[in-house]
Amino acid sequence: MDTPQQSLSRLAGIGPQSVARLQKLGIHCIQDLLFHLPHRYEDRTRIQPIGALAPGMTALIVGAVELTDVLLRGRRSLICRISDQTGFITLRFFHFSANQQTQLKPGALLCCFGEIRHGYAGLEIIHPEYKVVHTRDNLTEDSLTPIYPLTEGLRQNTVRKAVKQALALCLHQLTDWLPAAILHSHHFPTLQQALQTLHSPPAHQSSHDIQQSSALKRLVFEEFLAHHLRMLQGKMSHKRWQAPVFEVDPAVKARFLAGLPFQLTGAQQRVIGEIETDCAQHHPMLRLVQGDVGSGKTVVAACAALSALSSGFQVAVMAPTELLAEQHLRNFSAWFAGFDCEPVFLTGQLKGKARQQTLQSLADGGARIAIGTHALFQDSVHFANLGLIIIDEQHRFGVHQRLALREKSQAIGLRPHQLVMTATPIPRTLAMLQYSDLDISIIDELPPGRKPVTTSVIPSERRDEVIDRIHHWVGQKRQAYWVCTLIEESEVLQCEAAEKTAEYLSDALPEIRIALVHGRMKSADKDAVMQAFKNHRYDLLVATTVIEVGVDVPNAGLMIIENPERLGLSQLHQLRGRVGRGDVESYCLLLYQSPLSAAGKQRLGILRESNDGFVIAEKDLQLRGPGEVMGTRQTGQMQFKIADLNRDSELLEQIPAAAEIIYKQHPEAVSALIERWIGESGQYAEV
Ligand code: ADP
Ligand code: MG
Repeated sequence: MDTPQQSLSRLAGIGPQSVARLQKLGIHCIQDLLFHLPHRYEDRTRIQPIGALAPGMTALIVGAVELTDVLLRGRRSLICRISDQTGFITLRFFHFSANQQTQLKPGALLCCFGEIRHGYAGLEIIHPEYKVVHTRDNLTEDSLTPIYPLTEGLRQNTVRKAVKQALALCLHQLTDWLPAAILHSHHFPTLQQALQTLHSPPAHQSSHDIQQSSALKRLVFEEFLAHHLRMLQGKMSHKRWQAPVFEVDPAVKARFLAGLPFQLTGAQQRVIGEIETDCAQHHPMLRLVQGDVGSGKTVVAACAALSALSSGFQVAVMAPTELLAEQHLRNFSAWFAGFDCEPVFLTGQLKGKARQQTLQSLADGGARIAIGTHALFQDSVHFANLGLIIIDEQHRFGVHQRLALREKSQAIGLRPHQLVMTATPIPRTLAMLQYSDLDISIIDELPPGRKPVTTSVIPSERRDEVIDRIHHWVGQKRQAYWVCTLIEESEVLQCEAAEKTAEYLSDALPEIRIALVHGRMKSADKDAVMQAFKNHRYDLLVATTVIEVGVDVPNAGLMIIENPERLGLSQLHQLRGRVGRGDVESYCLLLYQSPLSAAGKQRLGILRESNDGFVIAEKDLQLRGPGEVMGTRQTGQMQFKIADLNRDSELLEQIPAAAEIIYKQHPEAVSALIERWIGESGQYAEV
């Protein structure tokens, strides 16, 4: 009896080499092969009249050879002109044999398949598939020809034949895990129908029809569902661990709050309440705090830290950059002064004896708060009794890094609570794929007195005006930023650009005190410059995007961002969040390189119109599509077999409801679906 789990070698034509090659594609058994879908199709179901061909089409044609010749001009090639009653076309071969030349003799009837393109003399096909035939009969196929993704050494025909056998042997034994209720409500075909259709779609469908077909949608739905279920399963298994129980001492908390230079906003208080409730449970919290840039997430984190500390547990605070980690260190040191828990600082820079001492103090529990970068979760770092992990600007870390820190179990055998914070709102639909293992709190209120930043979009030709504006602004004893962006990946180029700009501005504005800060400076130097700027020993800070996080200078209310068209909207919004921190009016000038495309203008216009990070993220999503917005960095290891976020995201909306039905009514389907779609990479669930 053949089963879908059976090994591939069961199939005729699949030897050990093919098995190995298929494995490279993640295909380990017959079921996997059934889920290996074509990425496109060729239409050999009808013969096209030659007169109806157009460049770009891929077509099956039949015609009689009129002439065949070897051209020596240019690159040596064999050309062969064929025609039917409707027109003619040229076949062109750059590699050919003498045998071929004789085969293509005038009068011979050829059946060809290939892509039509413009040639020297009308339309042509380069290296068509062809065969000499005797009649026009029986040349077409009944269904579209599937083209499968391949890997080195694997042939299209091998896969095609293997899939055909797999369909015949095992299709009907596959379990359809989607309950009838879901199939009905979405008008989805059964699993069998869907796979049959996608492996051999009926004639007269276009690729577009197939992309839109309910067969494909049904499978994409199932794949999304599997990813969502995996996140939920991760959450459930995480929640089964024991966690330390925090008790908040009201007197300690009152003293802490009284020491802050401001009063918490309502939103901050609400979110702190949500965190405290979670951390009073026996099971680990997994909470994401979303709050626009400047909404005051740090102090929320500090309050969470306070409950851990006052319950006798250690806290680790992880930031994506040293600069941001340093800022947290300053804030925490100030806020926790008088609480007898001076934070220790751990980054990759810390070496030698100092590092040994820091590690020792974390391991023996002498240090209560650790602040740092991802260096915090290296193997050599051990905690005596870590109770809370705080991860800032979560979007900069991959999902797996988040998990690695969670694994940092310690001697006490309890799982720490986990708080992650982000200023980059993930639109709700996408959050479901990425963060459905987290509970979400939103800080939807800015501290009082913040004025919205007035944003203008200005072409680079008007740079002189901008320079006048700086002159005038600084004349009023205020400070400004000039942010240079360049290809984000190249820090060297970015720093060079910033250096050049600083020189140029020094020439243009000789009376102004200009400082420069970029990512290749030593962290101590960077810090010194920032500090000096904060103390108003400089008027203008020229910077690369390193200042995206970290600086907080209320007197700096003017920011110029050069080449903003190169950055994502959310990143621009983050940058802009550096101004508008004081009580003066503040401004952001987006100095773009013209000409700017209509889409580019529209994008920058969004920033001019809105100061709300959530609105900006939604708009960004609409304009760029989810695939771009999520990017590979953010999707981390999330790889889809067939789903395409840009094409299919409207299905996401329905996933949570379906997941609930499955969980409640068909729990046996949960791991089966995860196994089917995510297979061995499903280790994420093992939290
Ligand atoms: P973000 O959410 O972007 O991380 P921060 O935590 O850095 O924001 O806070 C931004 C600034 O607002 C900091 O200077 C912080 O001290 C200040 N702040 C935070 N909460 C309040 C508040 N309730 N009232 C006034 N200022 C606040
Ligand atoms: Mg922050």
